[in-house]
Amino acid sequence: MFPFYTLQDLDKGAPAPGGKPARLAVIGNPIGHSRSPGMQQAALDAAGIDASYIRLLVDAGDFPRAVTRLRELGFIGANVTVPFKKEACALATCKDALAELSGSVNTLLFGQGGIVGANTDGPGFCLALEETWGMRPRGKRIALLGAGGGAGSALACACALDGCAHIALINRTVTRLPALAETLQRAGLASESISCMAADDRQSVIRAVREADVLVQATSLGLAADDGLPLPPEALHSGLFVYELVTHDTPLLREARRHGLPAGNGLSMLLYQGAEAFRLWFPGTPPDVSAMYGALQE
Ligand code: NAP
Repeated sequence: MFPFYTLQDLDKGAPAPGGKPARLAVIGNPIGHSRSPGMQQAALDAAGIDASYIRLLVDAGDFPRAVTRLRELGFIGANVTVPFKKEACALATCKDALAELSGSVNTLLFGQGGIVGANTDGPGFCLALEETWGMRPRGKRIALLGAGGGAGSALACACALDGCAHIALINRTVTRLPALAETLQRAGLASESISCMAADDRQSVIRAVREADVLVQATSLGLAADDGLPLPPEALHSGLFVYELVTHDTPLLREARRHGLPAGNGLSMLLYQGAEAFRLWFPGTPPDVSAMYGALQE
């Protein structure tokens, strides 16, 4: 099996994995690390659907051409990851509420009449909280590290749409936050329910996290082995739930456990955003979430 395909591979008719016709893809750059193919293939196989799911590496500037080619080849749809989520939103002719609000699309469905764009990262995050701890953002005070990033801003919008009580938007580059705060107000969150602060404004961050019920870590910190903590450790307090978007163990998760706090990694969000994408592609065929989870553990 190819670790990933390029547009040239598709043009040359490269063989699809497992002899099944390639009908779904995850598009990104880089893409070789994506865990979506294993997870989605498990769901396709469990549902008895004769299709395979591939990684597609696309160069900057080639995203629209890639989507056109996939449609010509009879693909059902695609997942979209860094750096193409905004372009995917621009290409979609019909969008769900979160995609419309956040300007970010991670799932495409190719229909007869056009391209449906959805953001399943937000619902995936809400379902991960629900399945892990039996809670949703609704009514909760959220402190969001990395709010200005792609995932962070989509999650901020999801929290606003779900009816969170308050959200503290924290980002290294603070100039990214005012536009996001305006977007959250368009989603119905009152201005006094939103605060914005720079990640290096130590006292404000400590205060905001101490007042929060849920801390969400959506920066890229923690991906590299030598990354440090993304916030001052004294901000952690009993009663705080810690959700880390990185899918493996990180310094923040270790620090949270040291404080005896409930803490979860981003594997559950990855799983549920994938399950929600599958529902969009195959309405009426529920995804086998256990099989998808099993594939993520391999
Ligand atoms: P992105 O758009 O590049 O955003 C990166 C964010 O991290 C920005 O807020 C950026 O701040 C911040 N950041 C980067 N380096 C930093 C540093 N040294 N110190 C402080 N802040 C820093 O990336 P993304 O797509 O949102 O992804 C963010 C993380 O979420 C990644 O770890 C990704 O793997 C993870 N993720 C997980 C899932 C899942 O399903 N579990 C889904 C999507 C993403 P600036 O604005 O200042 O640059």
